[in-house]
Amino acid sequence: MESAQPMPAQAKPKIKLEGVSKSFAEGSITAIRHLDLEIQEGEIYCLLGPSGCGKSTALNIIAGFEQPSGGEVSVDGATDLTPAPDRAVVFQKPLLYPWLTVLQNVTLGPKFAGAGSVEAKDDAMSYLRAMGLEGFESRYPYELSGGMQQRVSLARAWINKPRILLLDEPFGALDAQTKVVMQELLLDLWERFRTTMLYITHDIEEAIFLGDRVGVMSRRPSILKSETYVDLPRPRTVELTVDKEFIRLKKTIIDQLREETEMR
Ligand code: ADP
Ligand code: MG
Repeated sequence: MESAQPMPAQAKPKIKLEGVSKSFAEGSITAIRHLDLEIQEGEIYCLLGPSGCGKSTALNIIAGFEQPSGGEVSVDGATDLTPAPDRAVVFQKPLLYPWLTVLQNVTLGPKFAGAGSVEAKDDAMSYLRAMGLEGFESRYPYELSGGMQQRVSLARAWINKPRILLLDEPFGALDAQTKVVMQELLLDLWERFRTTMLYITHDIEEAIFLGDRVGVMSRRPSILKSETYVDLPRPRTVELTVDKEFIRLKKTIIDQLREETEMR
């Protein structure tokens, strides 16, 4: 029998940025100078970089919220990107409608796409269960902790079965304990759905724990300075963070990042 497994290096990238640049304020601020980035299908790609280097800008370009000033961006080979639910975005601040319950927030996407109430509810409940939010479906966002609100945001993003999840420091505002729980939850869901992810963070440990690859951007005007493969087994649990290889990777990436954040 022939193997149908493509070599990862030969696979067509799911997301491709080629020489992407981005300026603001009529060209007076160059955020991104030149960004080449390829993310493979099913990959978790974590992106680190000093504050203000253009990480969110890169994510916004892939989401279709911003147009590049130069270069080309494509998803599944298609350029000319406009925002679409196949590329779900999760921000640091959970963007939930405060006047809707948890369930209503999560079913919004499927209902908008034409799903019936019963079907949307069943689907939403399965995601809420996966997020440990069963019993909270009739609550309003203000009644939930920050971590729970962020889980609702994730359920709301995932229920649309996006091909790609774009996450911009999604757990950046959570305390350390909650953050670990959320990271493990995210990886559990990834094991089930193998959604391609671009995950922006300023937390080196988080990047290594989650990622298949970790990219480091230089300071503004930025380029992609380095990429590191994370050759650590999955499924991953928090014990991995004391593994020798984990610590070796952490040292490498600390050095890559330090050069970019040193005061000049
Ligand atoms: P990061 O997410 O890495 O912290 P951003 O992508 O948010 O960085 O921003 C990169 C640079 O571009 C920053 O200097 C920021 O001030 C600037 N910038 C981002 N968006 C805009 C905008 N809409 N108008 C003007 N400048 C912007
Ligand atoms: Mg940002």
